[in-house]
Amino acid sequence: MKANAAILHQTGVSSPYAESKPLVIEEVDVDPPGPGEVLVKIAAAGLCHSDLSVIDGSRPRPLPMALGHEASGIIEDVGTGVTRFAPGDHVVMVFVPSCGVCGFCARGRPALCEPGAEANASGSLLSGNWRIHQHDQTINHHLGVSAFSSYATLSEHSVIKIDPKFDLSTAALFGCAVLTGVGAVVNTAHLPPGASAAVIGLGGVGLCALLGAQLAGARQILAIDLSDEKLAFARELGATHTVNAGEANAVEKIKDLTGGGVEYAFEMAGSVPALELAYSITARGGTTVTSGLPHPDRKLSIQAVSIVAEERTLKGSYIGTSVPSVDLPRYMSLYEQGELPVDRLLTHTLTLDEINLGFDRLASGQAIRQVIVL
Ligand SMILES: [Zn+2]
Ligand SMILES: [Zn+2]
Repeated sequence: MKANAAILHQTGVSSPYAESKPLVIEEVDVDPPGPGEVLVKIAAAGLCHSDLSVIDGSRPRPLPMALGHEASGIIEDVGTGVTRFAPGDHVVMVFVPSCGVCGFCARGRPALCEPGAEANASGSLLSGNWRIHQHDQTINHHLGVSAFSSYATLSEHSVIKIDPKFDLSTAALFGCAVLTGVGAVVNTAHLPPGASAAVIGLGGVGLCALLGAQLAGARQILAIDLSDEKLAFARELGATHTVNAGEANAVEKIKDLTGGGVEYAFEMAGSVPALELAYSITARGGTTVTSGLPHPDRKLSIQAVSIVAEERTLKGSYIGTSVPSVDLPRYMSLYEQGELPVDRLLTHTLTLDEINLGFDRLASGQAIRQVIVL
């Protein structure tokens, strides 16, 4: 199967990307699905900060790589042994395939699936195979998905079937932004009704965390970012207070607003200073949750004694500690009931050819969520 895909050959090129064009739209061969795999015609693919982190080199991955991990599509063909899916089924992609049988999967922690993590690190599918080629060169898969492409072959454990009536552009956001942001609040933090919360970093994932905090019944939701435009948007979405993290006395201001700190702070920016800020504004007895993915060389420094003397908790949250096959249909149903208006985060719709411009917009904070419609 011939497909047009956005291929990254080199990381760390300088921006603006509309000029340097780190992603090149090229014709590739997508192999037919092997055993336990499916071929998907991609409908929509979101531009996420994790893609940008691969492009700028802060998330090292094997190259060349076909990027894109937040997407929706329609099953075109299935490999041998696939019984859960049939051509015509609508699906959303999940960026960690879960084998279903490793210790983590068996304990209900599919986001930590070990074979899934190994496949993602090596750039293969869960089967250990590579299904994208260009001439005699193998192209790596991005998180088992590689959705900035007209077609993709994936593990059947990388897709979740959805209601065919659901709008496919909005559906794409559920695979990364919604699972990660909402899941951090409801699964990782178990935020109880009436608690106070702060979200640091108001991109797509952070704003989904804000919507999740509303859904969970937080009494106070502080939105924190360096962009006044994003703070204004967060207020429209339901933040009760906004604080620009660049203000000289931001920490004191937040502590004043919250009576000494928030019970739950969510770091959604992917930077160590943002995580330090999140920890510093968490109250005694409170929980700091981090979903960002800083460069692997970065270290965190916090006051060790505070963990004991203030009974503080610091929790990591990957894909929102989700069980995607359970959480995704729940969140989609809440969206349909108007409880999780994530379509409001969809600020731009692009063609595949506009992808580099889209990443410029994401890097500069001019967009929340942009989807490429294939
Ligand atoms: Zn993502
Ligand atoms: Zn597993």
